[in-house]
Amino acid sequence: MTSRMHEEVEVRSTFLPFSLPDIGEEEIASVVETLRSGWLTTGPKVKRFEAEFASFVGAAEGVALSSATAALHLALEAVGVAEGDEVVVPTMTFTATGEVVHYFKAKPVLADCEDDTLNLSPAAFERAITPRTKAVIPVHMGGHPCDMDAILGIAKRHAVRVIEDAAHSFPAAYRGRTIGTLSDVTCFSFYATKTITTGEGGMLVSDDPAIVDRARIMSLHGISRDAWKRYTAEGSWFYEVLFAGYKYNMTDIAAALGLEQLKKAQRFLEIRSRYAKMYDEAFAGFPAIRRPSARDDVQHAWHLYAIRLDPEQLTIDRNRFMDELKSRQIGASVHFIPLHLHPHYRNTFGYVRDDFPVASRAYEQLVSLPLYTRMTEDDVRYVADSVLEICARYGR
Ligand SMILES: *Cc1c(COP(=O)(O)O)cnc(C)c1O
Repeated sequence: MTSRMHEEVEVRSTFLPFSLPDIGEEEIASVVETLRSGWLTTGPKVKRFEAEFASFVGAAEGVALSSATAALHLALEAVGVAEGDEVVVPTMTFTATGEVVHYFKAKPVLADCEDDTLNLSPAAFERAITPRTKAVIPVHMGGHPCDMDAILGIAKRHAVRVIEDAAHSFPAAYRGRTIGTLSDVTCFSFYATKTITTGEGGMLVSDDPAIVDRARIMSLHGISRDAWKRYTAEGSWFYEVLFAGYKYNMTDIAAALGLEQLKKAQRFLEIRSRYAKMYDEAFAGFPAIRRPSARDDVQHAWHLYAIRLDPEQLTIDRNRFMDELKSRQIGASVHFIPLHLHPHYRNTFGYVRDDFPVASRAYEQLVSLPLYTRMTEDDVRYVADSVLEICARYGR
């Protein structure tokens, strides 16, 4: 290792946030134009965003919604999850993936992850299946696609429906197939920290017209098809409530943002990929740092860049490491605190740390570094140098 890396890095004067949305004048102009148009809620912009997003990922149809959580809820509803059913959920995820199962009085059955990608382990998924298992929700952690051929194969053998939580993985691909084309239904997020944003928002995509129609109807009060058109010239005042639905539709204001973000998605990905490579090169050969894996049969979305610290190589733990980053004006995070370690899941299902040893161990070592398009190359170098400086200072 060169001694340069061990030299003191001058602390920057401004805080580098963990994440920032990349909103340009195009988005601002488009939102202003929408505000002036007189059509604020679900309308022509939402319809265009659905069509353009679905076409981007290669899916037949998209349903734009208020969040990915709403998309996951409607996806489970559309495949018929009901009270008493079980749904396999990776423990290494955000609580949204598990909470939607509770909406049906169904049971989220947690499963451990693969050690390299931190994605749902196909073997753990298969072990979690019981006669009551109705669905599985693989999560493409950080933007690295799950081993979908294995997961889809197991699901098919056991007649389990597959709903992808693709909150991190736009745009991404697995063995040449785009995420959004692989399973029954896929759910994307446009939350402010995600790879493209509408402030709050999500998209359900599917090639199955039954799933799309059901999700669309349930997203707007269970009102008959094209309910949103009832205030247009071609619409009619008459509507019928077919089911007790939800209020999950996206606004045209959000879609105006989304349409502009979509145009930039490929460029955004190229920047994140370049920054991930800069981190990779900076950390190569430092045993204290385990870099995120990227298998060669995937296109990684690089939503997150999560390193793992080797406790054998350092005298400080992950939490102290996070403090050190903060004192150097760097925002960092942890993805995720596994679900089984949260009070709700421990108290409701009696889970303990060692039920999911791979996720539990990874959790204690994980640090997500800033990775977003509004960072400069100097920002990336500053973070990398600071990480290496901390490793040198607290190395064994
Ligand atoms: C952000 C996130 C969600 C929820 O997305 P929202 O659009 O905020 O509802 C779901 N799953 C994962 C893995 C996420 O990171």
